[in-house]
Amino acid sequence: MENKYIRPRVKPIYPVYKLNELLFRIGAQLGITTEFEDPEGKLYKLVSILDGRELSDILKYMKSEFPDLTEEDVIDGLDILSNEDLIEESEDFSKYGIDERYIPNINYFSRFMKYGMSAYEIQKKINDSTILLLGLGGGGSNILTLLSGLGPRKIIIVDYDKVEKSNLGRQLLYKESDLGQLKVDVAVRTLKEMNSTIDVEGHNKKIERYEDVLEYTKGVDLVICVIDEPPFIAQKTVNKAVVEAKIPCVFGASQVSRGRVFSVIPNMTGCFDCLNIHYTLHDDKFVEQFVGFRDIDFNPPTVAYAPAMYQLTAAIVDEAVRILTGYAEPRSLSTQYEINYEDGSSFTHPSWTRYEEDCPTCGNGKSDKWEIFRYYDRK
Ligand SMILES: [Zn+2]
Repeated sequence: MENKYIRPRVKPIYPVYKLNELLFRIGAQLGITTEFEDPEGKLYKLVSILDGRELSDILKYMKSEFPDLTEEDVIDGLDILSNEDLIEESEDFSKYGIDERYIPNINYFSRFMKYGMSAYEIQKKINDSTILLLGLGGGGSNILTLLSGLGPRKIIIVDYDKVEKSNLGRQLLYKESDLGQLKVDVAVRTLKEMNSTIDVEGHNKKIERYEDVLEYTKGVDLVICVIDEPPFIAQKTVNKAVVEAKIPCVFGASQVSRGRVFSVIPNMTGCFDCLNIHYTLHDDKFVEQFVGFRDIDFNPPTVAYAPAMYQLTAAIVDEAVRILTGYAEPRSLSTQYEINYEDGSSFTHPSWTRYEEDCPTCGNGKSDKWEIFRYYDRK
C-alpha cells in the first residue's frame, strides 16, 4: 500500500480535546482551530495515538479497537487530518544538534508546513543564508536584533553614521555608552554578543552609487535595504545593484504613521524602476507629485516611534524569511505591502508588473524614454 505516512503525529503546537461525545477540536484559538464531528469516536481515537509511532502500529491498534475498519479507512482518516495541515511526519530535532534558540522558530514554522515538509529545513535555510543589510538607522538597527534571533550564517552590514542621542528612543540596538561611535562598529560588537554563531562583517560606507552596493553582494542570498536618504534615489541605486547582481531585495521605509515594504526578485518581479514606469502609466499626477516634492527639498524632523518602527521592521524581516525559505507566501512581491500604525491594519497596493520591454534597469528599455528618470538624474 502506497502512502506518505511513516510516523505521523499531531503537530505538537496543537492541543486535542473533546467538547462532548460528538465533537472534538484540534487547536484552541480562533482561526487556527479545526472542529470534527465524530459520533463513533473513531477519528478521535486515531488522533489520540498520533504520537509519532509507526504507521503499522497505528493500523494494528485501530483495527483492534474497531474491527470493521480497513487500512484504507485509517489512511482516509490521516488524509483528513493532513488536508487540514494538522499532522506532520515525526522528527527528532536533537539529531541535528540544532541550537536551542531556534526551536521556537521551528515550532512557529510547523504551523505552515504541509505533510512531508520539514519546519527544521526552513530554519536550516535561514541558518545557511547570507544577508546584506544596508542601513543601521531606525529600520536597520532593529532589523539586526530580529536577525540575531533567526541566525543567518552571515550578515554583512553597511552604514556610515555615528550613534547619536536622538537615536536612542527607537534604535534599541544602541546604548548610551555607544554614543559617538560608528554604528557599524557597535552593531558588529553587539551582534556578536547576541548571537556568536553569526559571522558578521561591518563596513563604514555611504552608499552613493550602485557600484558601492556591488562591492558587498558576493555570496549574498538576500539584501535588505532600509536606507531611504536621499528619498527614492537611494532605492533606485540599490535596485540597480540588486538587479545586476540578481539577488532578491526587500525594501522598507516609514513615513509619519505608515510603513511600506516591497520586494524585488530580479528577472521575476517588476523592479523599482518598473514601479516608476507603472506609476507614470497609471497615475497622471505621479510625475508632478515627484517633481513638486523634490523641488521643495523637504527636510522633515525625524518622525519615528519605536512601537511603529517595530511593526515595520518585523514585517520586513518576516518578508525576508518568506522569500528565503518559502515557509509562507511573501506579501510584497509585485505589490507594496503597507502598514498603517494608526489602527494596526495592513493592505497591499495594486500590483505592478515587470516592464521587460520598457524598463531601463531590468529590461531592454531606454531611460530617456521616460520623463520620470530625468528627475532622478538631475539633482
Ligand atoms: Zn524593471
